[in-house]
Amino acid sequence: MINIIGGGPAGCFAGHLLAKQGYKVNIYEEHRKIGVPVRCSGIVTEDINNIIKLKKELIKNTISNIKVISSDKHLNLESKEIILDRERFDNYLKDLAVDSGCTLNLNSRFISKDKVRCENKIISLKKDSQIIGADGPFSRVAASYGLIDKKQFLTGIQIKTELNVDPNTLSVYLGKNQGFSWIVPESENICMIGTMTQSKESKKYFDEFKKSLKIKKQLSSQSGLIPIFNPKQILQKDNVYLLGDAACQVKASTGGGIIPSLKAAQLLCKSISTDTNYDALCKKELNNSLRMHLIIRNILDKFTLEDYTSLIDMLNKPGIAEIFKKYSRDRPYSLVPRLLLKQPLLLKYFKCLI
Ligand SMILES: Cc1cc2nc3c(=O)[nH]c(=O)nc-3n(C[C@H](O)[C@H](O)[C@H](O)COP(=O)(O)OP(=O)(O)OC[C@H]3O[C@@H](n4cnc5c(N)ncnc54)[C@H](O)[C@@H]3O)c2cc1C
Repeated sequence: MINIIGGGPAGCFAGHLLAKQGYKVNIYEEHRKIGVPVRCSGIVTEDINNIIKLKKELIKNTISNIKVISSDKHLNLESKEIILDRERFDNYLKDLAVDSGCTLNLNSRFISKDKVRCENKIISLKKDSQIIGADGPFSRVAASYGLIDKKQFLTGIQIKTELNVDPNTLSVYLGKNQGFSWIVPESENICMIGTMTQSKESKKYFDEFKKSLKIKKQLSSQSGLIPIFNPKQILQKDNVYLLGDAACQVKASTGGGIIPSLKAAQLLCKSISTDTNYDALCKKELNNSLRMHLIIRNILDKFTLEDYTSLIDMLNKPGIAEIFKKYSRDRPYSLVPRLLLKQPLLLKYFKCLI
């Protein structure tokens, strides 16, 4: 028996994969509905298609251009991006899990070691069962079973608003806030605008960004914490595993956690079904890429406004856009060395590694 705590993308996808292998899987989700509240812009690269085939109705928009802006400089990168409808996407994964044989328990909250409150009843998880903590950034599973390491977070704040923008262009604003801001178009006149930063002044930065865009109308708002990848995070202890945000499996440079959590679910399924160490599998097949994003995050955190503008100048060189077009940020070990070869001046930012 496998008990999965958390019915987000990580938990439901792992449940689907494990049930398909013949395991008896219970998913416990504290909310009464899957996929709400949404705390995500839903941006993923086309690499997601290597993991799961997306149906049209799960996609709000597709983008082919990223405009990176800092002060008065900008850079246009041709890049295929998918804007997921997170509520539908989560429910799609839930349907896959249930159709594969998982039992879904809603309104069921993991409260402490081996204990889940289902509706108003406390149930005990069997001592010999496997437990997967896919319960998000504040994982109670991690805390209850002693898998806690130091966690650092990015704060994401975003609103849906009316703004006339090019529906084909995702705009990213870099600078001055230890993070970045974005405009993600869902259609010609509806978009998400937001800010992600490690600074304690995230709300102030978000309000400044909103003001700079002269936004008056707010259709909805979301905010949440995004754990920064921690290579020291313990992922497995005896029969307990961590997955997704609970395991800090997030790209620290962008805050993107959907693709890493799906990849980690595949690795966890492989680990359980082949009796291979999950920590070792993640180290080999996922952590190098997350580590590269962490290095980029650490470099960018030290950037001044001048550094950002000089970075844009360096990247505005013939041949760079082609590299970004060909190698997605979900494969940074292919992308970054090629960028360094094409523009060796970028090496100066990596001097902290020497
Ligand atoms: C503002 C914002 C924007 C973002 N934008 C993007 C983006 O554009 N692209 C991207 O890739 N990522 C983005 N992310 C990150 C992404 O949302 C997460 O990485 C992703 O949701 C991780 O999936 P998960 O299943 O691990 O965790 P979650 O989606 O957090 O799911 C965890 C589930 O566990 C449940 N749960 C929690 N505690 C318990 C408990 N004790 N008992 C039972 N159930 C419990 C929760 O209700 C939830 O359903 C964003 C995050 C934020 C905050």
